[in-house]
Amino acid sequence: MNCYEIVYVDKAVLNCEVTSSVLERLAQVPIEFIDDPRQLQDEVAWMSNPIGAGKRGLVITKSKGKALKTCPGARGTLCCNYTILDIVQNCPLDCSYCILQGYFTNPFIVLYANVDEVLAEVDGILNRNPRRLFRIGTGEFTDSLALEGPIPLAAKLVSFFADKENALFELKTKAVYVDSLLGLNHRGRILVSWSLNPQAVIDREEVGVAPLDARLEAARRCQEAGYKIGFHFDPIIYYPDWERDYRGVVDRIFELIDPRNIPWISLGTLRLPPGLKPVIKKRFPYSKIIYEEMIPGAGGKLRYPKPVRVQMYRKMVEWIHGYDPDVFVYLCMEGQELWPKVFDERPKEGSMYFKVFDRNWW
Ligand code: SF4
Repeated sequence: MNCYEIVYVDKAVLNCEVTSSVLERLAQVPIEFIDDPRQLQDEVAWMSNPIGAGKRGLVITKSKGKALKTCPGARGTLCCNYTILDIVQNCPLDCSYCILQGYFTNPFIVLYANVDEVLAEVDGILNRNPRRLFRIGTGEFTDSLALEGPIPLAAKLVSFFADKENALFELKTKAVYVDSLLGLNHRGRILVSWSLNPQAVIDREEVGVAPLDARLEAARRCQEAGYKIGFHFDPIIYYPDWERDYRGVVDRIFELIDPRNIPWISLGTLRLPPGLKPVIKKRFPYSKIIYEEMIPGAGGKLRYPKPVRVQMYRKMVEWIHGYDPDVFVYLCMEGQELWPKVFDERPKEGSMYFKVFDRNWW
């Protein structure tokens, strides 16, 4: 997919292999050479929709920060210890509820071309911590596969992580560009996961994103190629027909995917960080998600009232475990006190690792 109208190339990465490869693939797109990506913020700041404009511009630059970042879990929530591999920031897709709208000061899609340097840093971290198990992914600051095609990074990352004994690498996506993954020697150590919602929600809230059936078909193809498959129901959105529709999605999963190939399914109901509501109202005037009853919770985020969340989680867990009680289900960004209302026991911090590794799936 190519949705870019302009590519900005930081002169500092002119000689990187990734830069040449992306420019070759985007030969039809105008290029502008820049000294400092920060100068670009002023170019869109005056626009009525800088976030939308940013999605059509690609910035190729150099990472100067840490290669791995801790997922910004809200205070008071039980964390799954996801570690973000920071190679791409922002996303060409456009979901109304996306917390990335306004998360970064730069609204453009940013690609760090010095990928080899970033991966060398990761290699050093993994080698220095042989007893620690890292859960690493690219799916927090962007969609892991939405840029594939013009920016084929996934195969490089899969090949890098396939032989890392103490890392579990996850590509998390709503896209369907899996062709580049299918022939790789991933050694069974890579998980490709899809964020799912009922088609009714996709139609209304996820602009330019693959339909549900296409995502599940991509998951089936990855399963066939030996990958483990994860699913994320996040955000789960409340609306009058939510039960019927989400149950339908769970049914579709288990029609196509063998539960033994699913290390985990995560659940998280809609959360709106402070400041996101007016952005949604302005950018997605037809969206209804901001009109449900929500109250401020951990980190000041608006959430559905606890009894509603508990009811939604319990139903989802019941439907999933109706297919296989061994499928590991966890809650994303929920406080410790809420877990026992959904499950029988409260997990200890970090215990999801042991559940996953216990299953001996890799
Ligand atoms: S796919 Fe994910 S990262 Fe991209 S816009 Fe949607 S929620 Fe945001």
